[in-house]
Amino acid sequence: MSNTTEDSNCIFCRIARGEIPSKKVYEDPEVLVFHDIHPAAPVHLLVVPRRHISSLITADPADGALLGKMLLLAPQLAREQGATDGFRVVINNGPGGGQEVFHLHLHVMGGPRPWRQMSIGG
Ligand code: AMP
Ligand code: ZN
Repeated sequence: MSNTTEDSNCIFCRIARGEIPSKKVYEDPEVLVFHDIHPAAPVHLLVVPRRHISSLITADPADGALLGKMLLLAPQLAREQGATDGFRVVINNGPGGGQEVFHLHLHVMGGPRPWRQMSIGG
């Protein structure tokens, strides 16, 4: 899938447009952050660009600033949501990388262990 501005069938584009509810913790004109509906850890956030980028596989060098911004939001939001002891960032890319929603997103996970085993796909 190409990097169109939005995709009518994409679940994260629909969340970004407000067509599907989400538990938002942050939003700005470029980025949306909400709780994963099926958390693998006590804190499990998804950091999502509003613009439809399928994955890192199709990300463009011009997306560098956006990707940097997404990464740099992680520590602040993880801490605010209760992951005071550190956090993990995961990006699944393509079917072989266990990606299920083909709109680029960072998983930000933290909080007291044990955590649920995160799906590794397949
Ligand atoms: P991935 O396998 O990296 O594509 O992860 C997709 C993630 O999106 C999974 O952890 C799902 O639990 C999560 N997810 C799917 N639908 C929703 C939704 N409507 N709201 C919040 N999280 C979702
Ligand atoms: Zn999308």
